Amino acid sequence: MRLSCCLSCAAMVLLTMHSVSAKESVIKTLLIDGQNNHQWQKTTPLIKATLEKTGRFAVDVVTSPENGGDMSKFNPKFSDYQVVVSNYNGEPWSKETSTAFGEYVKNGGGFVSVHAADNSFPEWTEYNEMIGVGGWGGRNEKSGPYVRWREGKFDRDTQAGRGGSHGKRHPFEVIVRDEAHPITRGIPASWMQAEDELYAELRGPASNMQVLATAFSDKATGGTGEHEPMLMAINFGKGRVFHTTLGHDEVAMSGAGFQITLQRGTEWCATGEVSQPSVTAAQLTAKEVAMKDPKTLELPIGHNKADFSGAPNISGEGWTTLFNGKDLSGWAQKNGTAKYSVEEGAVVGRTSEGSPNSFMCSEKDYSDFELTFEVRVDSALNSGVQIRSKSIPEKDSGRVHGPQVEIEASPGTAGYVYGESTGRGWLSPTQTKTDALKNGDWNRYLIRVVGPRIQTWINGRKIEDIYDPASYQSGFIGLQVHGIAKDTGPFQVRWRDIRIHEVK
Ligand code: ZN
Repeated sequence: MRLSCCLSCAAMVLLTMHSVSAKESVIKTLLIDGQNNHQWQKTTPLIKATLEKTGRFAVDVVTSPENGGDMSKFNPKFSDYQVVVSNYNGEPWSKETSTAFGEYVKNGGGFVSVHAADNSFPEWTEYNEMIGVGGWGGRNEKSGPYVRWREGKFDRDTQAGRGGSHGKRHPFEVIVRDEAHPITRGIPASWMQAEDELYAELRGPASNMQVLATAFSDKATGGTGEHEPMLMAINFGKGRVFHTTLGHDEVAMSGAGFQITLQRGTEWCATGEVSQPSVTAAQLTAKEVAMKDPKTLELPIGHNKADFSGAPNISGEGWTTLFNGKDLSGWAQKNGTAKYSVEEGAVVGRTSEGSPNSFMCSEKDYSDFELTFEVRVDSALNSGVQIRSKSIPEKDSGRVHGPQVEIEASPGTAGYVYGESTGRGWLSPTQTKTDALKNGDWNRYLIRVVGPRIQTWINGRKIEDIYDPASYQSGFIGLQVHGIAKDTGPFQVRWRDIRIHEVK
């Protein structure tokens, strides 16, 4: 990418990444419906599809007796599931069922409250602690404070007044207020939710509750003039709770923002982590509503072709050497005039003053693959490796363009993905600087590109995991020597042990 690192150095934060080692397994999920002042018969299949189309959840649905029925017969076995999702807003459950549910969450079970589920059970103390805040059902100042985002922080407002309201339905912007939480880390900082009810004036104990995102409830649409909480994460005993106020009906549930946060929130409740790829600003934007019909959502392409849960195993079988260590056969230079040579078994790229970015490119194209190499870069030089990239006459006279895995000195953005010459800027939604790259030394990169998913590791540390269907799904691999400022350089970057494992 371009040489502009100084702009953000001041905001440097070292990133602590956890390593994902356990193989991803399917999360057993129970979805509850049966009574709701909303059309649960229509929305339950959408919630189920939204979760299952990630490949991460297996959802069983349990339907309560209808209103006025024999609730003593409603006894789901919560403990068989890692997470319970509620699409229920109705009569109180039996004492046994309520107690069992409270114990389930307290002992570490996950719980997700969707939209009007937070209208339920105004008298049930534990339930209100689980959801943090709720609305309607006679809730008022005795239920707890309003929680509003005011002047850059959350305010607990204890003034008297009703709990629960909404203006007329409209699309609205949701703003992330906690970018460090696993649910909201790696999604854009703000995005448009599809036409929905913007819940306002929710109130409750709000203990152990983090508000992850808010939306402005505009008086012009019948709202409160306050930034109201939209997405919440709550700890209840050992259990994790995700509360989304979004999802009034089929239209609201077709909002990609509703779907993505439900998918991420439900996984977090079940496991405490989110293994789903980050979401780019191209998928979820603050400019317009992104809509997807949950019934026709497809499993991510390539979902079954690779195990995304850990780093590629470079000692395994099926790896092919792309660079023979002696010469550059199989490679061709494109664009700039940087000098590429082979020395001591490594490709050496040397800057050339006045040259645009240069690329040494594989003659072959690759689509789904794992790639590894070692790289040593002068700290003053920006570099990167193109994946699935192209050079075609009709695009800027053959300028190399496509995803680039960044190479730059620590602390920096090495390992994140930039859209070289695509006009898209960073494809990684956030680029928290890390110290993963050892300056002045050899560094092992691992890259997995299967379907629209791109994952990267440096020296064993996971850096990026994004889902980017907008990029080319096939193209060459290119070793970049960045252009340099006048009267600087020459600088060098070296690559060795460049190998590929094609995933078929
Ligand atoms: Zn509603």
